[in-house]
Amino acid sequence: MKRVYNFSAGPSMLPLPVLEKAQSELLNYRDSGMSVMELSHRSGLFTDIITKAEEVLRELMHIPENYKVLFLQGGASQQFAMAPMNLLVKSGKADYVNTGSWSKKAIKEAKKYGQIRVIASSEEENFTYIPKVEKNMIDPEADYVHITTNNTIEGTTFPEIPDTGDVPLVADMSSNILSEEIDVSKFGLIYAGAQKNIAPAGLTVVIIREDLIGNAPESCPTMLDYKTHSDSGSLYNTPPTYTIYMAKLVFEWLKELGGLKEMERINREKAQLLYDYINGSAMFTSPVQPDSRSIMNVPFVTKSGDTDLEAAFIKEAQGLGLETLKGHRSVGGMRASIYNAMPVEGVEKLVNFMREFEKNYK
Ligand SMILES: *Cc1c(COP(=O)(O)O)cnc(C)c1O
Repeated sequence: MKRVYNFSAGPSMLPLPVLEKAQSELLNYRDSGMSVMELSHRSGLFTDIITKAEEVLRELMHIPENYKVLFLQGGASQQFAMAPMNLLVKSGKADYVNTGSWSKKAIKEAKKYGQIRVIASSEEENFTYIPKVEKNMIDPEADYVHITTNNTIEGTTFPEIPDTGDVPLVADMSSNILSEEIDVSKFGLIYAGAQKNIAPAGLTVVIIREDLIGNAPESCPTMLDYKTHSDSGSLYNTPPTYTIYMAKLVFEWLKELGGLKEMERINREKAQLLYDYINGSAMFTSPVQPDSRSIMNVPFVTKSGDTDLEAAFIKEAQGLGLETLKGHRSVGGMRASIYNAMPVEGVEKLVNFMREFEKNYK
């Protein structure tokens, strides 16, 4: 069977054991004579799936009791609006940190709902680093502070989570949720589109502190009110049932692996392999400042900026089963997304190829 190492930024690789498990249960789930895709979202079998998915996610992330887990649709992009619609309710002001294309979209959307201030930005340096965020930069009256913990396109990540004091911290964690241990209690709201590190596309995971639910204005559409989904256990309407099932399998795979501590160890090992090679290379370089480098998305470019050479690299890599290494158009060059499901062997194969390529084209 042909399987490649897929370095796509999303939708991205899923763990092979998860795909195999899904395949083995595809036609007849738990002797129901049905696929999970055909089960009613009100059935006992599906109730077990969504309950277990939440339970294992809570265990993996040590989610405190006073937080709700919601399984929604609309992608992380819908959260760009849903968060302000629900949270901009006291002062109507929020502080945002601008660290890349996704932050910019979140800021643009939030401006429709209130007074948005950008308190730190790295845009003038093409988002190649994470700006410092100090407590005294934050408006104590702000309804929340918003950050993008990992910048998928630019390949940067917050080296530490800013301390926002009593102002709730809202985080777009789409591309690094479950990649390492985090302290959920530092956040008011975490959201993530599933297609990077959780499951196939179609699901958005929201983790929200209970006091931030139920404050949306009367005019808020029912489907965009966190309370609707919190009150109904994410079953107000038909949820993305199959994707929730796949998420459950991924959570169970992570638990079996040893949880997020072990996952983080493996992810750091993979990233180290790649950055060590890039740092010592005469041909390739990273556009990102060392202290801001992501362990999930690793952009790299040729030092000469030779786009023909880069095109040859991408083409030859593909011939060897190293797929989707083309960089985002805003950064250029190459990008290797090495999410949880990318095995160490995939990164080793990439580094070996880079070494060969460098020798052949120097
Ligand atoms: C992919 C991504 C998004 C967009 O997610 P959708 O689910 O497609 O809306 C937003 N933020 C970050 C950080 C992402 O990586």
